Amino acid sequence: MDLFHFQEEAPGSVFWHAKGWTLFLQLISYMRRRQSEAGYVEVNSPDMMEKSLWEASGHWEKFGDHMFTTQTPDDKTFCCKPMNCPGHVQIFKHGLKSYRDLPLRVAEFGKVHRYEPSGALHGLMRVRSFTQDDAHVFCTPEQITQECIKINDLMMTIYKEFGFDNVKIKFSDRPEKRVGSDEIWDRSEEALKAVLEAAGVEWELNSGEGAFYGPKLEYVLRDAIGRDWQCGTTQLDFNLPGRLGAVYIGADGEKHEPVMVHRAMFGSLERFTGILIEQHAGRFPLWLAPTQIVVAPIVSDADEYGLALQQKCLAAGLRCEIDLRNEKINYKVREHSHAKVPVMFVVGMREAQEDTVSVRRLGDKHQKVMSVEEAIAQMVIDTAAPDQV
Ligand SMILES: [Zn+2]
Repeated sequence: MDLFHFQEEAPGSVFWHAKGWTLFLQLISYMRRRQSEAGYVEVNSPDMMEKSLWEASGHWEKFGDHMFTTQTPDDKTFCCKPMNCPGHVQIFKHGLKSYRDLPLRVAEFGKVHRYEPSGALHGLMRVRSFTQDDAHVFCTPEQITQECIKINDLMMTIYKEFGFDNVKIKFSDRPEKRVGSDEIWDRSEEALKAVLEAAGVEWELNSGEGAFYGPKLEYVLRDAIGRDWQCGTTQLDFNLPGRLGAVYIGADGEKHEPVMVHRAMFGSLERFTGILIEQHAGRFPLWLAPTQIVVAPIVSDADEYGLALQQKCLAAGLRCEIDLRNEKINYKVREHSHAKVPVMFVVGMREAQEDTVSVRRLGDKHQKVMSVEEAIAQMVIDTAAPDQV
């Protein structure tokens, strides 16, 4: 489908081709709108930071084997970020925060790098560098429940809009070895139970499987043919803010450590793209389709009319190509149907004279003659993303 490729010199890193990148960008635009509506701010943190920061965050000790590092000429060691969390804590720490600033919801489409042995790599599903739709919610202990419920609502909306109606949640609660008081663990587990209730979907308990720094929820999506994919996570964290010295001034005038909620909804955008390719078997819904329309002139005398039509489609924000090859129209139709192009605008001399277009939709044997204006207006409506309908 000419979406992407891999090659030996960059194992586990995607070369996105124009069509694949178009799809990828659609996911980002969609998520941006959804997040902004839900009260998130978007930030961007450095791809490489000095090793000392990763030592302070604890990642070097726990995750060092999976980190890419580089030595600079001035003898410093930098690490490619395997996670965005420490960067977001730095942004939080900039300027004194008060309880009135909370909850602070910080999002980033952060590209992370994690070393995986080459044998473990698997297409888009398991890569070495990927983009997370990552966010961290900094909040007070009292805000944990409301924030986790909001995150859950957002996730459920998003999964539904992508056609995943069958969602399961795995709930991992407190392990033997942990940080944080029992009181805060009680409160957090209660919060996540409230989420499970609000979600109203099937869930299972992974007893004692939570991280040492907090309990978590994992969202598993079932696709059209019954395969399960783990995508979203909501992870509570009572450790990292304190470890990196993040505080806010409470209503009592004292310093407190915020709770940090790590959450990703698509998880990895590379992987989610892979899941969508599987889910739709390449036949993407109109709003995601890398090419939405192909204009196909029947005779070369209609080329000029076709080019003008393509220009009008592009101006209307539609992703439109034109097939000017000197081939029979049946051949063009067959080929673009095969490539799963959702809509073809077929034009001949009659269409050119009448300022019309024959609209042919994928899977539909009949074509419909419409005025150009009408056809484009209809396409603008039909290509709207689910959140814009
Ligand atoms: Zn995080």
